[in-house]
Amino acid sequence: MHDAGQVLPPGSTIGILGGGQLGRMIALAAAQLGYPCHVFCPGRDEPATQVAAGSTLAPYEDELALERFAEAVDVVTLEFENVPVATTEFLAERVPVRPGSHVLYTCQNRLREKDFLASINVPTARYMEASGPDALARALRDFGTPVILKSAEFGYDGKGQVRLSQATEARTAWEEMRRHAPDSPAIIESFVDFHAEISVIVARGLDGAIATYPAVENKHRNHILEQTIAPARLPHDVMERAEIIARHVAEGLDLVGLLGVEMFVTVDSQVLVNELAPRPHNSGHWTLDACLTSQFEQLVRAVTGLPLGSIERHANAVMRNLLGDDVERWRELAADPAARLHLYGKREARPGRKMGHVTRLQPLD
Ligand code: AMP
Repeated sequence: MHDAGQVLPPGSTIGILGGGQLGRMIALAAAQLGYPCHVFCPGRDEPATQVAAGSTLAPYEDELALERFAEAVDVVTLEFENVPVATTEFLAERVPVRPGSHVLYTCQNRLREKDFLASINVPTARYMEASGPDALARALRDFGTPVILKSAEFGYDGKGQVRLSQATEARTAWEEMRRHAPDSPAIIESFVDFHAEISVIVARGLDGAIATYPAVENKHRNHILEQTIAPARLPHDVMERAEIIARHVAEGLDLVGLLGVEMFVTVDSQVLVNELAPRPHNSGHWTLDACLTSQFEQLVRAVTGLPLGSIERHANAVMRNLLGDDVERWRELAADPAARLHLYGKREARPGRKMGHVTRLQPLD
């Protein structure tokens, strides 16, 4: 499982699976270090293809296109964790894939992810597999109320999630989850009474070196990240515990690349892991403007085998996503000297769609 690959010199091409804004910001960071990127994604005119040196527009199942892509790149990474594992396995026979398929396999399914976390003694909410409405009624009895039913696969931004408190709601909750995810296995979790939602971005290099950014605080609206406050306003021991957990998870996964670890801090100061994202994370965008090495550059360094960069931060930051129509404020934001504006080049501002973000820097405490 361990990737003992070679360092790739600048000029080597990084392949990126996925064409969204995360891929765009990876490609920009790579270009700064002299690495061209080649994006593979199914869509046309995606944020990443606009800035990449090359692109292949094809379905993830197209083996001929994948074969050509593998010939054109020196390493493959991803900006989207729902790429089929069969795709990364096919590529891994031809070119290094970082992070490896085993990381994707674990993180694509909430049950596998939580089983993995349990196996390395990382605390999470209580959970069990949900096989149907009867299992839901059982969880309500055993876990206490409320509980959350989630599809185990392909859920994001709260899609396929239902909260329920009574056994009489079990059937409707099940049907609602099924409408979003007809074929996915499902998980039931106890509802965490959290004081804060935080995340830690951890990078792990080819040599096993680890760098973690400080825990940040995340505020959501309609399950979509709205604001990140960096660093989180939490006691030192909680911040430290969150970083220790993130390191432990990165090591447990034998990660080469970047991982966003989403966590809850409970009212009694426990730190529970909610979800893992094996790629740059929206809550790490502040690092572009406030740290010596951004999360995107850190990923480029990890997958090419360069030493990880300094995570030193020269400012605190508040990052706000521009969702849907928020982007229409671009003129005002561009004129605001305190706002660092990032736009993703998306042409259509659908409600809730991540169109860009704004970071405001503040003096260090
Ligand atoms: P997720 O897709 O797992 O990141 O969940 C989306 C959001 O739903 C989280 O950011 C939380 O605000 C909330 N949530 C998810 N799981 C739980 C839980 N077990 N207890 C409390 N809130 C949760």
